[in-house]
Amino acid sequence: MSSLAFSILFIIFFLLTLSLRFWLANRQIRHVLAHQDKVPAEFSPKIGLDAHQKAAAYTIAKTKFGVASLFFSSAVLIGFTLMGGLQWLAAQVLGLTGPGMAYQLGLVIAFGLVSGLLDLPFDYYRQFVIEQKFGFNKMTPGLFFADLAKGLLLGALIGLPLVWVVLALMHKAGSLWWLYAWLVWSGFQLLMMVLYPTVIAPLFNKFTPLADESLKARIEGLMARVGFASKGLFVMDGSKRSAHGNAYFSGFGANKRIVFFDTLLERLAPQEIEAVLAHELGHFKLKHIIKRIALMFAISLAFLALLGYLKNQLWFYTGLGVDPLLGGSDAMALILFMLVLPVFTFVLSPLSSITSRKHEFEADAFAATHASGADLVSALVKMYEDNASTLTPDPLHSAFYDSHPPASVRIAQLNLAGA
Ligand SMILES: [Zn+2]
Repeated sequence: MSSLAFSILFIIFFLLTLSLRFWLANRQIRHVLAHQDKVPAEFSPKIGLDAHQKAAAYTIAKTKFGVASLFFSSAVLIGFTLMGGLQWLAAQVLGLTGPGMAYQLGLVIAFGLVSGLLDLPFDYYRQFVIEQKFGFNKMTPGLFFADLAKGLLLGALIGLPLVWVVLALMHKAGSLWWLYAWLVWSGFQLLMMVLYPTVIAPLFNKFTPLADESLKARIEGLMARVGFASKGLFVMDGSKRSAHGNAYFSGFGANKRIVFFDTLLERLAPQEIEAVLAHELGHFKLKHIIKRIALMFAISLAFLALLGYLKNQLWFYTGLGVDPLLGGSDAMALILFMLVLPVFTFVLSPLSSITSRKHEFEADAFAATHASGADLVSALVKMYEDNASTLTPDPLHSAFYDSHPPASVRIAQLNLAGA
Protein backbone atom coordinates (compact mmCIF):
# COMPACT_ATOMS: atom_id res chain seq x y z
CA MET A 1 0.00 0.00 0.00
CA SER A 2 1.21 3.50 -0.66
CA SER A 3 1.30 6.03 2.12
CA LEU A 4 -1.21 8.23 0.29
CA ALA A 5 -3.63 5.31 -0.15
CA PHE A 6 -3.45 4.60 3.59
CA SER A 7 -3.99 8.28 4.44
CA ILE A 8 -7.10 8.26 2.25
CA LEU A 9 -8.39 5.02 3.79
CA PHE A 10 -7.83 6.48 7.25
CA ILE A 11 -9.68 9.68 6.37
CA ILE A 12 -12.60 7.71 4.92
CA PHE A 13 -12.98 5.63 8.09
CA PHE A 14 -12.41 8.69 10.26
CA LEU A 15 -15.26 10.57 8.56
CA LEU A 16 -17.47 7.50 8.52
CA THR A 17 -17.05 6.90 12.26
CA LEU A 18 -17.38 10.56 13.14
CA SER A 19 -20.60 11.03 11.17
CA LEU A 20 -22.02 7.72 12.37
CA ARG A 21 -21.44 8.68 16.01
CA PHE A 22 -22.84 12.17 15.44
CA TRP A 23 -25.91 10.74 13.71
CA LEU A 24 -26.48 8.20 16.51
CA ALA A 25 -26.25 10.95 19.14
CA ASN A 26 -28.83 13.01 17.30
CA ARG A 27 -31.12 10.03 16.99
CA GLN A 28 -30.79 9.41 20.73
CA ILE A 29 -31.64 13.01 21.60
CA ARG A 30 -34.65 13.08 19.26
CA HIS A 31 -35.92 9.73 20.49
CA VAL A 32 -35.67 10.67 24.17
CA LEU A 33 -37.28 14.06 23.54
CA ALA A 34 -40.15 12.47 21.65
CA HIS A 35 -40.91 10.13 24.57
CA GLN A 36 -40.28 12.44 27.49
CA ASP A 37 -43.88 13.46 28.13
CA LYS A 38 -45.19 10.01 28.85
CA VAL A 39 -43.85 7.24 31.10
CA PRO A 40 -43.92 3.98 29.10
CA ALA A 41 -47.00 1.95 30.10
CA GLU A 42 -45.03 -0.92 31.64
CA PHE A 43 -43.38 1.50 34.10
CA SER A 44 -46.19 3.97 34.66
CA PRO A 45 -47.33 2.80 38.08
CA LYS A 46 -43.79 2.62 39.46
CA ILE A 47 -41.93 5.51 37.89
CA GLY A 48 -43.41 9.01 38.09
CA LEU A 49 -43.40 11.59 35.31
CA ASP A 50 -40.90 13.69 37.28
CA ALA A 51 -38.35 10.89 37.44
CA HIS A 52 -38.95 10.05 33.79
CA GLN A 53 -38.30 13.64 32.73
CA LYS A 54 -35.24 13.90 34.93
CA ALA A 55 -33.89 10.78 33.17
CA ALA A 56 -34.64 12.37 29.80
CA ALA A 57 -32.86 15.61 30.71
CA TYR A 58 -29.88 13.70 32.14
CA THR A 59 -29.59 11.47 29.06
CA ILE A 60 -29.77 14.47 26.73
CA ALA A 61 -27.19 16.42 28.74
CA LYS A 62 -24.81 13.45 28.67
CA THR A 63 -25.37 12.86 24.95
CA LYS A 64 -24.74 16.52 24.06
CA PHE A 65 -21.62 16.50 26.15
CA GLY A 66 -20.61 13.30 24.35
CA VAL A 67 -20.95 15.12 21.02
CA ALA A 68 -18.73 17.98 22.20
CA SER A 69 -16.07 15.60 23.42
CA LEU A 70 -16.40 13.55 20.22
CA PHE A 71 -15.54 16.57 18.10
CA PHE A 72 -12.73 17.55 20.40
CA SER A 73 -11.15 14.08 20.44
CA SER A 74 -11.54 13.84 16.67
CA ALA A 75 -9.64 17.11 16.27
CA VAL A 76 -6.96 15.83 18.65
CA LEU A 77 -6.64 12.61 16.64
CA ILE A 78 -6.09 14.51 13.40
CA GLY A 79 -3.75 16.91 15.21
CA PHE A 80 -1.61 14.04 16.46
CA THR A 81 -1.51 12.21 13.13
CA LEU A 82 -2.03 14.00 9.82
CA MET A 83 -1.16 17.42 11.20
CA GLY A 84 2.12 16.23 12.65
CA GLY A 85 1.56 16.52 16.43
CA LEU A 86 3.11 13.15 17.22
CA GLN A 87 6.04 13.81 14.95
CA TRP A 88 6.67 17.08 16.76
CA LEU A 89 6.34 15.43 20.18
CA ALA A 90 8.77 12.69 19.12
CA ALA A 91 11.33 15.27 18.03
CA GLN A 92 11.08 17.04 21.41
CA VAL A 93 11.51 13.78 23.32
CA LEU A 94 14.40 12.69 21.11
CA GLY A 95 16.12 16.02 21.76
CA LEU A 96 15.96 15.30 25.50
CA THR A 97 16.81 11.63 25.59
CA GLY A 98 18.75 10.76 22.46
CA PRO A 99 17.90 7.49 20.65
CA GLY A 100 17.40 4.18 22.47
CA MET A 101 15.12 2.79 25.14
CA ALA A 102 14.95 6.12 26.99
CA TYR A 103 13.46 7.70 23.88
CA GLN A 104 10.96 4.88 23.32
CA LEU A 105 9.75 4.95 26.90
CA GLY A 106 9.88 8.75 27.01
CA LEU A 107 7.66 9.02 23.95
CA VAL A 108 5.02 6.74 25.47
CA ILE A 109 5.12 8.78 28.72
CA ALA A 110 4.94 12.11 26.89
CA PHE A 111 2.04 10.93 24.75
CA GLY A 112 0.20 9.57 27.80
CA LEU A 113 0.65 12.84 29.69
CA VAL A 114 -0.40 15.07 26.80
CA SER A 115 -3.51 13.06 26.00
CA GLY A 116 -4.41 12.76 29.68
CA LEU A 117 -4.06 16.51 30.07
CA LEU A 118 -6.31 17.11 27.06
CA ASP A 119 -8.98 14.80 28.53
CA LEU A 120 -8.80 16.33 31.98
CA PRO A 121 -11.13 19.33 31.45
CA PHE A 122 -13.74 16.96 30.02
CA ASP A 123 -13.51 14.58 32.98
CA TYR A 124 -13.77 17.51 35.34
CA TYR A 125 -16.76 18.98 33.55
CA ARG A 126 -18.56 15.63 33.46
CA GLN A 127 -18.18 15.19 37.20
CA PHE A 128 -18.61 18.73 38.50
CA VAL A 129 -21.11 20.12 36.03
CA ILE A 130 -23.25 17.31 34.62
CA GLU A 131 -23.22 14.80 37.47
CA GLN A 132 -23.44 17.72 39.90
CA LYS A 133 -26.45 19.24 38.20
CA PHE A 134 -28.41 16.00 38.42
CA GLY A 135 -27.41 15.33 42.01
CA PHE A 136 -25.07 12.40 41.37
CA ASN A 137 -21.75 13.99 42.19
CA LYS A 138 -20.51 13.30 45.71
CA MET A 139 -16.87 14.14 44.96
CA THR A 140 -14.94 17.18 46.08
CA PRO A 141 -12.35 18.69 43.71
CA GLY A 142 -9.77 17.59 46.32
CA LEU A 143 -10.84 13.97 45.95
CA PHE A 144 -10.91 14.30 42.15
CA PHE A 145 -7.29 15.42 42.07
CA ALA A 146 -6.21 12.92 44.72
CA ASP A 147 -7.68 10.15 42.53
CA LEU A 148 -5.83 11.59 39.57
CA ALA A 149 -2.52 11.60 41.44
CA LYS A 150 -3.05 8.03 42.63
CA GLY A 151 -3.96 6.95 39.12
CA LEU A 152 -0.80 8.52 37.71
CA LEU A 153 1.36 6.89 40.35
CA LEU A 154 -0.23 3.50 39.71
CA GLY A 155 0.20 3.97 35.97
CA ALA A 156 3.88 4.67 36.52
CA LEU A 157 4.37 1.74 38.91
CA ILE A 158 2.40 -0.86 36.98
CA GLY A 159 2.08 0.45 33.42
CA LEU A 160 5.64 1.57 32.77
CA PRO A 161 7.34 -1.78 33.53
CA LEU A 162 4.79 -3.45 31.24
CA VAL A 163 5.42 -0.97 28.42
CA TRP A 164 9.16 -1.39 28.94
CA VAL A 165 8.91 -5.18 28.55
CA VAL A 166 6.79 -4.84 25.40
CA LEU A 167 9.18 -2.27 23.88
CA ALA A 168 12.15 -4.51 24.70
CA LEU A 169 10.41 -7.45 22.99
CA MET A 170 9.65 -5.32 19.94
CA HIS A 171 13.28 -4.33 19.75
CA LYS A 172 15.01 -7.63 20.44
CA ALA A 173 12.69 -10.62 20.12
CA GLY A 174 12.63 -10.88 16.30
CA SER A 175 9.66 -11.32 14.00
CA LEU A 176 7.52 -13.17 16.57
CA TRP A 177 7.78 -10.39 19.17
CA TRP A 178 4.01 -9.88 19.07
CA LEU A 179 3.41 -13.45 20.21
CA TYR A 180 5.68 -12.99 23.24
CA ALA A 181 4.11 -9.60 23.90
CA TRP A 182 0.72 -11.31 23.86
CA LEU A 183 1.88 -13.85 26.45
CA VAL A 184 3.18 -11.03 28.66
CA TRP A 185 -0.02 -9.03 28.18
CA SER A 186 -2.25 -12.01 28.99
CA GLY A 187 -0.22 -12.82 32.10
CA PHE A 188 -0.48 -9.18 33.12
CA GLN A 189 -4.26 -9.23 32.69
CA LEU A 190 -4.56 -12.32 34.88
CA LEU A 191 -2.32 -10.77 37.50
CA MET A 192 -4.46 -7.64 37.52
CA MET A 193 -7.58 -9.73 38.12
CA VAL A 194 -5.95 -10.91 41.34
CA LEU A 195 -4.39 -7.59 42.33
CA TYR A 196 -7.30 -5.30 41.47
CA PRO A 197 -9.78 -6.35 44.19
CA THR A 198 -7.18 -6.93 46.89
CA VAL A 199 -4.58 -4.23 46.31
CA ILE A 200 -5.73 -1.56 43.85
CA ALA A 201 -9.43 -0.98 44.54
CA PRO A 202 -8.75 -0.53 48.32
CA LEU A 203 -6.49 2.42 47.42
CA PHE A 204 -9.55 4.27 46.17
CA ASN A 205 -12.40 2.94 48.31
CA LYS A 206 -13.04 1.45 51.69
CA PHE A 207 -14.29 -2.13 51.72
CA THR A 208 -15.97 -3.37 54.87
CA PRO A 209 -17.39 -6.85 55.44
CA LEU A 210 -21.16 -6.89 55.13
CA ALA A 211 -22.48 -6.43 58.67
CA ASP A 212 -26.21 -6.98 58.18
CA GLU A 213 -26.58 -10.54 59.54
CA SER A 214 -29.99 -11.32 58.07
CA LEU A 215 -28.97 -10.08 54.62
CA LYS A 216 -25.76 -12.06 54.94
CA ALA A 217 -27.69 -15.23 55.78
CA ARG A 218 -29.99 -14.63 52.83
CA ILE A 219 -27.07 -14.18 50.44
CA GLU A 220 -25.19 -17.16 51.81
CA GLY A 221 -28.34 -19.21 51.26
CA LEU A 222 -28.41 -18.09 47.63
CA MET A 223 -24.72 -18.90 47.15
CA ALA A 224 -25.22 -22.37 48.64
CA ARG A 225 -28.21 -22.99 46.34
CA VAL A 226 -26.28 -22.14 43.19
CA GLY A 227 -22.96 -23.59 44.39
CA PHE A 228 -20.82 -20.49 44.51
CA ALA A 229 -17.84 -20.11 46.84
CA SER A 230 -16.59 -16.66 47.70
CA LYS A 231 -13.90 -15.08 49.82
CA GLY A 232 -16.40 -12.72 51.36
CA LEU A 233 -19.14 -10.15 51.06
CA PHE A 234 -18.06 -6.54 51.10
CA VAL A 235 -19.69 -3.15 51.14
CA MET A 236 -17.89 -0.42 49.21
CA ASP A 237 -18.26 3.27 50.04
CA GLY A 238 -19.35 4.17 46.51
CA SER A 239 -21.24 7.14 47.98
CA LYS A 240 -17.84 8.82 48.46
CA ARG A 241 -17.85 9.65 44.74
CA SER A 242 -21.25 9.12 43.23
CA ALA A 243 -24.88 8.46 44.04
CA HIS A 244 -25.04 5.80 41.30
CA GLY A 245 -25.43 2.31 42.74
CA ASN A 246 -24.05 -1.05 41.66
CA ALA A 247 -23.08 -4.56 42.70
CA TYR A 248 -20.35 -6.74 41.25
CA PHE A 249 -18.01 -9.49 42.07
CA SER A 250 -14.37 -9.53 41.24
CA GLY A 251 -11.36 -11.78 41.35
CA PHE A 252 -11.39 -15.40 40.32
CA GLY A 253 -10.59 -18.86 41.66
CA ALA A 254 -10.59 -18.84 45.45
CA ASN A 255 -10.21 -15.06 45.41
CA LYS A 256 -13.73 -14.13 44.39
CA ARG A 257 -15.38 -11.47 46.44
CA ILE A 258 -18.80 -9.94 46.16
CA VAL A 259 -18.98 -6.17 46.42
CA PHE A 260 -22.09 -4.06 47.02
CA PHE A 261 -22.08 -0.28 46.70
CA ASP A 262 -23.42 1.22 49.90
CA THR A 263 -25.75 3.30 47.71
CA LEU A 264 -27.36 0.11 46.41
CA LEU A 265 -27.84 -1.48 49.83
CA GLU A 266 -29.52 1.65 51.08
CA ARG A 267 -32.08 1.65 48.35
CA LEU A 268 -33.01 -1.97 47.68
CA ALA A 269 -34.98 -4.36 49.88
CA PRO A 270 -33.19 -7.59 50.93
CA GLN A 271 -35.06 -9.75 48.41
CA GLU A 272 -34.21 -7.29 45.63
CA ILE A 273 -30.54 -7.39 46.59
CA GLU A 274 -30.72 -11.17 46.46
CA ALA A 275 -32.21 -11.03 42.96
CA VAL A 276 -29.54 -8.58 41.71
CA LEU A 277 -26.81 -10.78 43.12
CA ALA A 278 -28.42 -13.88 41.59
CA HIS A 279 -28.11 -12.13 38.20
CA GLU A 280 -24.39 -11.49 38.82
CA LEU A 281 -23.84 -15.07 39.98
CA GLY A 282 -25.65 -16.16 36.82
CA HIS A 283 -22.88 -14.53 34.77
CA PHE A 284 -20.40 -16.61 36.67
CA LYS A 285 -22.29 -19.90 36.71
CA LEU A 286 -23.16 -19.69 33.01
CA LYS A 287 -19.45 -19.15 32.27
CA HIS A 288 -20.01 -15.71 30.74
CA ILE A 289 -17.03 -14.32 32.57
CA ILE A 290 -14.61 -16.98 31.45
CA LYS A 291 -15.96 -16.69 27.89
CA ARG A 292 -15.49 -12.93 27.95
CA ILE A 293 -11.91 -13.34 29.15
CA ALA A 294 -11.17 -15.97 26.49
CA LEU A 295 -12.64 -13.72 23.80
CA MET A 296 -10.60 -10.76 25.06
CA PHE A 297 -7.41 -12.87 24.85
CA ALA A 298 -8.25 -14.05 21.33
CA ILE A 299 -8.98 -10.51 20.13
CA SER A 300 -5.79 -9.12 21.64
CA LEU A 301 -3.81 -11.89 19.93
CA ALA A 302 -5.34 -10.97 16.58
CA PHE A 303 -4.66 -7.26 17.14
CA LEU A 304 -1.07 -7.87 18.24
CA ALA A 305 -0.49 -10.02 15.14
CA LEU A 306 -1.86 -7.14 13.07
CA LEU A 307 0.45 -4.73 14.87
CA GLY A 308 3.33 -7.14 14.23
CA TYR A 309 2.61 -6.74 10.52
CA LEU A 310 1.93 -2.98 10.54
CA LYS A 311 5.10 -2.23 12.50
CA ASN A 312 7.14 -3.22 9.43
CA GLN A 313 5.10 -1.24 6.90
CA LEU A 314 6.49 2.16 6.05
CA TRP A 315 3.06 3.40 4.88
CA PHE A 316 1.58 2.77 8.33
CA TYR A 317 3.77 5.58 9.69
CA THR A 318 4.08 7.95 6.78
CA GLY A 319 0.36 7.60 5.97
CA LEU A 320 -0.34 8.88 9.49
CA GLY A 321 2.06 11.80 9.40
CA VAL A 322 5.04 10.25 11.14
CA ASP A 323 8.63 9.50 10.09
CA PRO A 324 9.55 6.12 11.64
CA LEU A 325 13.26 6.68 11.10
CA LEU A 326 13.25 9.39 13.74
CA GLY A 327 14.65 7.70 16.85
CA GLY A 328 13.23 4.24 16.06
CA SER A 329 9.71 3.08 15.39
CA ASP A 330 8.66 0.80 18.26
CA ALA A 331 6.94 3.27 20.58
CA MET A 332 5.50 5.10 17.59
CA ALA A 333 3.96 1.88 16.25
CA LEU A 334 2.28 1.23 19.63
CA ILE A 335 0.93 4.77 19.93
CA LEU A 336 -0.36 5.01 16.37
CA PHE A 337 -2.03 1.64 16.67
CA MET A 338 -3.88 2.62 19.86
CA LEU A 339 -4.86 5.95 18.36
CA VAL A 340 -6.29 4.79 15.06
CA LEU A 341 -7.64 1.33 15.85
CA PRO A 342 -11.01 2.62 17.19
CA VAL A 343 -11.52 4.54 13.94
CA PHE A 344 -11.56 1.24 12.07
CA THR A 345 -13.42 -0.86 14.65
CA PHE A 346 -16.28 1.39 15.79
CA VAL A 347 -18.62 0.15 13.06
CA LEU A 348 -18.27 -3.32 14.58
CA SER A 349 -19.45 -2.30 18.08
CA PRO A 350 -22.96 -3.79 17.69
CA LEU A 351 -21.32 -7.22 17.42
CA SER A 352 -20.07 -7.01 20.98
CA SER A 353 -23.41 -5.65 22.20
CA ILE A 354 -25.18 -8.64 20.67
CA THR A 355 -23.11 -11.13 22.68
CA SER A 356 -23.30 -9.17 25.90
CA ARG A 357 -27.07 -8.79 25.58
CA LYS A 358 -27.49 -12.51 25.08
CA HIS A 359 -25.55 -12.97 28.31
CA GLU A 360 -27.72 -10.42 30.13
CA PHE A 361 -30.91 -12.26 29.16
CA GLU A 362 -29.40 -15.56 30.29
CA ALA A 363 -28.31 -14.06 33.63
CA ASP A 364 -31.80 -12.58 34.12
CA ALA A 365 -33.33 -15.99 33.49
CA PHE A 366 -30.86 -17.51 35.96
CA ALA A 367 -31.89 -14.95 38.58
CA ALA A 368 -35.56 -15.69 37.96
CA THR A 369 -34.93 -19.40 38.53
CA HIS A 370 -32.69 -19.15 41.59
CA ALA A 371 -34.14 -16.05 43.23
CA SER A 372 -37.21 -14.20 42.02
CA GLY A 373 -37.94 -12.62 38.67
CA ALA A 374 -40.46 -10.23 40.22
CA ASP A 375 -37.87 -9.01 42.75
CA LEU A 376 -35.36 -8.50 39.97
CA VAL A 377 -37.91 -6.45 38.04
CA SER A 378 -38.63 -4.19 41.01
CA ALA A 379 -34.88 -3.84 41.70
CA LEU A 380 -34.24 -2.92 38.06
CA VAL A 381 -37.01 -0.33 38.12
CA LYS A 382 -35.51 1.27 41.23
CA MET A 383 -32.00 1.20 39.76
CA TYR A 384 -33.17 2.80 36.53
CA GLU A 385 -34.98 5.47 38.46
CA ASP A 386 -32.09 6.16 40.84
CA ASN A 387 -29.52 6.29 38.06
CA ALA A 388 -31.83 8.40 35.87
CA SER A 389 -31.23 5.95 33.02
CA THR A 390 -33.57 6.58 30.16
CA LEU A 391 -36.35 4.03 29.68
CA THR A 392 -36.71 5.06 26.06
CA PRO A 393 -33.31 4.93 24.36
CA ASP A 394 -33.06 5.01 20.60
CA PRO A 395 -32.75 1.32 19.62
CA LEU A 396 -29.93 1.93 17.15
CA HIS A 397 -27.95 4.14 19.52
CA SER A 398 -28.43 1.48 22.17
CA ALA A 399 -27.17 -1.25 19.83
CA PHE A 400 -23.87 0.62 19.42
CA TYR A 401 -23.29 1.82 22.96
CA ASP A 402 -25.17 -0.24 25.54
CA SER A 403 -23.88 -3.54 26.82
CA HIS A 404 -27.26 -4.11 28.47
CA PRO A 405 -30.59 -4.44 26.65
CA PRO A 406 -33.01 -1.51 27.16
CA ALA A 407 -34.94 -1.73 30.45
CA SER A 408 -38.30 -2.29 28.82
CA VAL A 409 -37.01 -5.27 26.83
CA ARG A 410 -35.37 -6.86 29.87
CA ILE A 411 -38.40 -6.38 32.04
CA ALA A 412 -40.79 -7.62 29.37
CA GLN A 413 -38.66 -10.75 29.06
CA LEU A 414 -38.66 -11.30 32.85
CA ASN A 415 -42.40 -10.74 33.13
CA LEU A 416 -42.95 -13.15 30.28
CA ALA A 417 -40.88 -15.80 32.07
CA GLY A 418 -42.76 -15.21 35.32
CA ALA A 419 -46.21 -15.32 33.77
ZN1 LIG B 1 -25.46 -8.53 33.84
